[in-house]
Amino acid sequence: MRLEASYLTSLHGMAPRQELADEVYGLLRSHIMRGSIPPGVRINIEDVARQLNVSPTPVRETLARLESEGLVDREPRRGYRATELLGRDDVRELYELRLLLEPHAVERAAARADAALLKLITTELEHGNELTRDKASISPAELSAHDERFHDLIFQAAGNEVIRQSYARTHCHLHIFRLAYSDTYDDHTIIEHGLIVDALRAGDSATAVEAMRSHVVSSEARVLSYFERQQQPRQSGWRNPGTALA
Ligand SMILES: [Zn+2]
Repeated sequence: MRLEASYLTSLHGMAPRQELADEVYGLLRSHIMRGSIPPGVRINIEDVARQLNVSPTPVRETLARLESEGLVDREPRRGYRATELLGRDDVRELYELRLLLEPHAVERAAARADAALLKLITTELEHGNELTRDKASISPAELSAHDERFHDLIFQAAGNEVIRQSYARTHCHLHIFRLAYSDTYDDHTIIEHGLIVDALRAGDSATAVEAMRSHVVSSEARVLSYFERQQQPRQSGWRNPGTALA
């Protein structure tokens, strides 16, 4: 299958080089995330460059960035293609890793009690609460971004950069969002985050560990339920190109 990139509009005329590279990156990333560049589709550098009316350089740079995020694969002599979506086993393995890393991280964070980071975590939780105040207008993209920041702040508060980077390199939020972006988050996410923050503020390591473990297990169940729903007729198309995406 070859990428039909007719929806790519010309970026010609956008001047500074870095700005152009970021624009190409944002555009291709968005198409992969929302499925208008479907999983498995080959992405030809020359074709994309021609359609965007740019040189192949920013397209090549973009594909290298997307490869580091696991959104495209490079195949010898064949070029790039969009990666497949996570399968059920991929999700289980990802959450197995999260269950190894995150309770440990929150335990360290509770013990270290870095006041500045605790303040940032509390502020992030307040932001999450704002996002879910009106249930009718919950934005899955904004909630996903909140969740990514929240968990990263806890890894920062744990004070082990190697663990933090190991987690970051899974790009788990990005891949879960791509899999089932409208189905992954709801206000339960924020309630669970609140329990973690309460325990952190109380310096209660044991409760923080349990709250984190419970949150990760619940989050996995929410993502896995996506696969069950795939047996049912789809309610709303997450691959609908008209659907908003961050
Ligand atoms: Zn979370």
